[in-house]
Amino acid sequence: MTSAYIALGSNLDNPASQLRRALRQLNCLHQCQIESLSGAYSSAAIGPGTQPDYLNAVVKLATALSAPQLLGATQTIENSQGRIRSQRWGPRTLDLDILLYGGEEIHTQSLQIPHPRMAERNFVLYPLAEIAGEKLILPCGGVLGSLLANCPLGDLVRTQVSLDIEHEPG
Ligand code: ATP
Ligand code: CA
Ligand code: CA
Repeated sequence: MTSAYIALGSNLDNPASQLRRALRQLNCLHQCQIESLSGAYSSAAIGPGTQPDYLNAVVKLATALSAPQLLGATQTIENSQGRIRSQRWGPRTLDLDILLYGGEEIHTQSLQIPHPRMAERNFVLYPLAEIAGEKLILPCGGVLGSLLANCPLGDLVRTQVSLDIEHEPG
């Protein structure tokens, strides 16, 4: 089994419910199990135009899927929750980005790991640090704490929204 970290984001159609649905689907994937989950963070959208705020979280998934298989599975989940790709960084019901896959570096056309823009995104780094710790070593050899030191918290807020999929209704 490999540990993968996946970032979840939503800013349409009840984001908390979208994230819970996505977590349930990830946990139900063949030979995949959620190992830990961050809190839910809210932040202003970085995309074009006026958009609703995002709800973000990061999950650690133990998986027997290969990285390309995991990408395919996450895209199937996005599509099942009504993801429409009309505009780059446009609003979306669900975005699942693979941040890390074990200690691997992957650079193919369809898959880049570590996620190439994670270092500049507070809504990714802070929830990741919550579950992985600041001492997490990245495939390049750097530590997560150094990335955090260069990425201000800004408007990111850790909310009280529960993403607990065992005790909360959908
Ligand atoms: P960003 O990648 O800047 O967060 P986005 O999430 O809005 O933007 P998408 O439209 O969801 O971008 O994805 C575009 C493509 O990114 C996908 O089709 C996928 O092939 C590719 N991709 C490359 N690396 C990854 C990764 N680590 N996780 C998820 N998708 C990836
Ligand atoms: Ca994304
Ligand atoms: Ca994405």
